[in-house]
Amino acid sequence: MSTQNDKVVDWDVAVVGLGSMGSFAFWQLASMGVNIVGFDRYRPGHDKGAGHGETRIFRTAYGEGVEYVPLLQEARELWRQLEKETGVELYIENGGTMFGPADGEFITTVQESVKTYHLPHKKYTGEEARKVYPQINFQDYQVAIYEELAGYVKPELAIETAVNRGEELGGTVFTESPITAIEPDEDGVTIRTADKQYRVNQVVVASGGWTKELLPQINLPVTLERQVLVWYEAEDPKQFTAVKFPIFSRVSKGRGFYGFPTIDGKTVKVAFHHGGEEANHPNDVDREIHESDLNNLTEKVKKYLPGLIPTPVKAKTCFYTNTPDEHFVIGKSSRVPNVTLLGPMAGHGFKFAPIIGKIGAQLATGQQPTLEISLFNPDRFNN
Ligand SMILES: Cc1cc2nc3c(=O)[nH]c(=O)nc-3n(C[C@H](O)[C@H](O)[C@H](O)COP(=O)(O)OP(=O)(O)OC[C@H]3O[C@@H](n4cnc5c(N)ncnc54)[C@H](O)[C@@H]3O)c2cc1C
Repeated sequence: MSTQNDKVVDWDVAVVGLGSMGSFAFWQLASMGVNIVGFDRYRPGHDKGAGHGETRIFRTAYGEGVEYVPLLQEARELWRQLEKETGVELYIENGGTMFGPADGEFITTVQESVKTYHLPHKKYTGEEARKVYPQINFQDYQVAIYEELAGYVKPELAIETAVNRGEELGGTVFTESPITAIEPDEDGVTIRTADKQYRVNQVVVASGGWTKELLPQINLPVTLERQVLVWYEAEDPKQFTAVKFPIFSRVSKGRGFYGFPTIDGKTVKVAFHHGGEEANHPNDVDREIHESDLNNLTEKVKKYLPGLIPTPVKAKTCFYTNTPDEHFVIGKSSRVPNVTLLGPMAGHGFKFAPIIGKIGAQLATGQQPTLEISLFNPDRFNN
């Protein structure tokens, strides 16, 4: 119990959603010694939201905007901090190759990021890149930027580790406890489950694709987009280990194709970025895998990854929660007092989870975030 204007509250801060962002906010708040509770509608590490599928790309030379680089630099340190605190390996820094047409927006911004922040990297023509990474059939018209501060993180394990660490530090967790209503007022917030209600001073809402229904008064113009992850066997898996094979991401005209080194010693995961069907609610995302989900990706595998056997062996669905400008929604909205929004994350948020969690903890405890977040202002869509 804590107090609020001399009245007793159940906790100082509640985190609603212990997924990718919420789990890290929970850890950060618990690290600050805040009296904290976290709720999730499922068990952390589940596969119903956006934080599953074994691996997520981490990269610092950011094609989505140079402004993201300072956040990524601090995120990297915080990934290492959680690993140090728990002894769990979460981030494998095996390098990354971003490639695309030389004049493409993504590659141009990757190069601006590298230049502005002096990031360690190498630049190759398509022909040079094929010699260094023969696993990828780079095209002559493409350029490739190899960056050292890239690799992959392990989403399910990361979420579970952050929640467990937060609990160890004194936080309370309710799993399989959907919050049915968030009712903010000038003094604090009432939150409800199906059969209980609680009073807290502040709420951090990190409910991803469910945020629109939980906080309808903010009227977020977000849409869900189904995505499919597909695994292919490697002819010679030794060529695709993290030591030999960097994460890769090819983006052209807003669409992407990306992949990871093998983590099971047999298969390689690849996917398209964007191009999926839209949905209004997580329950409406089609979770079945269809022939049509696999065909185009298999064609890309044949074109770019000749060392993979072009027959899918496993596939999973997931969804993005997109914003109109493809930037995150982070911060306080003028429409709801005592609420901090951490997301939606516009389909590229996982790598940022630790720094977004830290920013959420700062905002919920009345501190000014140490990094610039005005790009993510939840009120920017209002007019
Ligand atoms: C296929 C795919 C590949 C991706 N690849 C990358 C990548 O390589 N690199 C990268 O950086 N990003 C990547 N992303 C994006 C990244 O994974 C997402 O931006 C991120 O996971 C979103 O996190 P979140 O916390 O907003 O949502 P989630 O992780 O979905 O968390 C939301 C949580 O809120 C809970 N919740 C919802 N409603 C309630 C409620 N009413 N009460 C209690 N709990 C509730 C849910 O159960 C869930 O646990 C990818 C996304 C997908 C789908």
